Formats: sequence, structure tokens, C-alpha cells
Amino acid sequence: MTTELMTSAITLTSVTKSYSTTAPAALHGVNLDILPGTSTAIVGPSGSGKSTILRIIAGLEDANGGRVRLSGRDVTALLPEQRGISMVFQRPLLFPHLTVLDNVAFADRAAGVSRAQAREQAREHLEMVQMGTFASRSPQSLSGGQQQRVAVARALAAKPSVLLLDEPFSALDPGLKDEMHAMIASIRAAVNPTILFVTHDRDEASAMAERIVVLENGQLLQHDTVDHVFHQPASLAVARLLGGKNAFAGVVDNGVHHSAIGAVAIDAHVASGPATLVFRHEAVTASLRLTGSPSSDAGLTAAHPDAAACQRLGPRELRGTVTAAVQRGPRRELVVRVGDADVHTEAAPGNLLSVGDPVTVSLPCEALWTVPA
Ligand code: ADP
Repeated sequence: MTTELMTSAITLTSVTKSYSTTAPAALHGVNLDILPGTSTAIVGPSGSGKSTILRIIAGLEDANGGRVRLSGRDVTALLPEQRGISMVFQRPLLFPHLTVLDNVAFADRAAGVSRAQAREQAREHLEMVQMGTFASRSPQSLSGGQQQRVAVARALAAKPSVLLLDEPFSALDPGLKDEMHAMIASIRAAVNPTILFVTHDRDEASAMAERIVVLENGQLLQHDTVDHVFHQPASLAVARLLGGKNAFAGVVDNGVHHSAIGAVAIDAHVASGPATLVFRHEAVTASLRLTGSPSSDAGLTAAHPDAAACQRLGPRELRGTVTAAVQRGPRRELVVRVGDADVHTEAAPGNLLSVGDPVTVSLPCEALWTVPA
């Protein structure tokens, strides 16, 4: 079946939400389509409406306008328990008086399944989150990460068509988060639920999802693949929200962008006119420029007056001087002064660059993108 014909797992149509008549709306006419079996992250600043979207899909909050459909079925007026959805919150919210196993068996028991059968299925779900050996323990005896694994097992035990997670791992240590991401990957391989989750962590978004929804002030700014939201943002706002540090306002003329960093050959198909050049600092590298080569010609040497396709011109190069250097694990982040502008980049492997070093910054064609000015 092609994706065009596939019924979306989640469809929001013009969903609007206001919590009060005095405050600005939390969501402004949000439209969203999530395909079955995909994992999608919602990112955006605090207060942008991320949790509100999840809560409206789950039925924990009513929208003021618009429709919610799950697998094509309009569930806007249905109660949470009628929607076939499970939700995991930042805190595990396990029942303290039940064992780990009975916490996971709870939904089946409430649905009238026999104790033996509910426990058997619970055991399978505990195995799925690598907690099988903890079945008879009480939740209080588990670490935070283990409790969250149990909460995920409990959510899966309800066999939801859609699994919603609201900042599920944000309270955990970085190392534990990696383990949780691996757990989600193995769950996806085993039962392939549709996953929609909120995170404020860009790395987590890309580790757990193949698509990202970017929200700001209750507006959906972009819904796209991970690669596109990072490298081909729909707007300067998206680039900034995803941690993009390089943005140079300027003008495109015949496939060449002109700005404070000079002339940069971009894709020849980009229309002429005002545009802001953006590129990720992780996608461009600086190397030591050998003394003796000219150092004063800030700006681009590869720009070509009638630049055809970007690729034909090869990598672009800027010349500048390092003004700041910060080591982050194995990576070395730099600020390079190019003309009157600061370019954020990383040191090429083997280049132990420091403040004052003359450098060449290479701009690969694929890293360059323009957004509306
Ligand atoms: P996020 O998850 O992106 O931080 P939320 O969806 O929690 O954002 O909130 C969006 C907006 O709605 C914020 O301005 C927030 O203050 C407001 N809001 C959220 N929940 C409530 C509530 N129960 N009552 C009143 N205002 C709320």
C-alpha cells in the first residue's frame, strides 16, 4: 500500500484550544497527519502547546474547535478510555500497593481478563522492556529508570494503536536516556505502535523519531523528516528552535547568496531575491590555514557569477580567524570571524584550533539552505 492510500493513525484538523478567554490560545488551528507505525517527536519551547496536543489526542482535554481522528475514526467526542490510546508521563505513576507484574496486568484485569491470562501478558510486556526479573518487586524498590520501563510496559499492555509519551525520559540521567531510546527501538521492532512524544531535547527527538513536529506559540511551524527540520528548516524560527546558530540575511542573485560572509554559491534553482542563508555548525568544518596564504580576503572564493548547480562548484570556502573555541567531548566548536560576521563551525578532525588561528571554513553544498528573509 502506498503512503498516499494509507489511513493516518492520527489526524488533527484545525484543532484549536484556549484555556481561558484572557490568555492567548494554546493551539491555533493545528493540522497534523501521523502515519501508522511511525515515531514522531513534538518539539518547541516551553508553553508552545506540546503537551496540549497530546492531551487532546488522548481525550484528557477537550479542543474548542477542530476534529481528532484515529485510524480514520472521529474520536473528538469520545472518552479517553474509548480511544485505544496509552500515555506515558514524565513520572511513572505506578500503583505502590501492587507488584510490578500486577501494575502491568492492571489494564487487562480492569477489562475483565482473568488474572492468570492478564499476568501472562504482563510478563511478556515486562520482557519487552527488559524488566522480566523484577515482576514480583514493589515499584518503590526500583530506580527511576526501571519504574519508567514498567510504566512503558503498562502502557503497551493495553495494546494501544497509538502510544503517547509526554517528556517520558527527561528526568533521567543522560546514560539512562540512551538505554531508554534503545528500549523504544526494540519495542518498535517487536510491536510497531504509532508513537507520538513530546521532548525538549533535540538529540532525543532525533534518536527516537524519524519525523519531527515543530511548534511555537500554538502554531505548527514544520512537520518533516529529522534531516529536513535540521538541514532544510521551513523558516528562520525553525532553524533557531532547533539550535541553528548560523543565519545570514542577504540576497540571492543568480544562484549566489550575498551577505556579511560574502558571496556563497547555493543551489541554482533558488529564486533570486532577499533570503537568509542558514547552515548547521555541525555540518561545516574549519581547518588551519597555512601561513603564507592570503588572509585578508574575507568572503567566499568559490562563488561564481553564473553559478549553475551547487555541486558543480565543489565545496565553498570562507577565510577567517578563530575568536572562540569550546571543546565538547571529542568535538571542538569554534566561532570564526569572517569579515564582519561570526560563523559557527567545528574544527576538522586533527585540527587543534585555538583563538587567533587563521582558518579556512569549508561549506559543503548540501549543508546550505535558504529561508525567507
Ligand atoms: P508545552 O507542553 O509546550 O510546555 P502546554 O501545552 O503545557 O505547553 O501549554 C500551552 C499553553 O497553555 C501555555 O501557555 C500554558 O500556560 C497553557 N496551559 C496549559 N495547561 C493549562 C491549564 N490546565 N490551564 C490553563 N492554562 C494552561
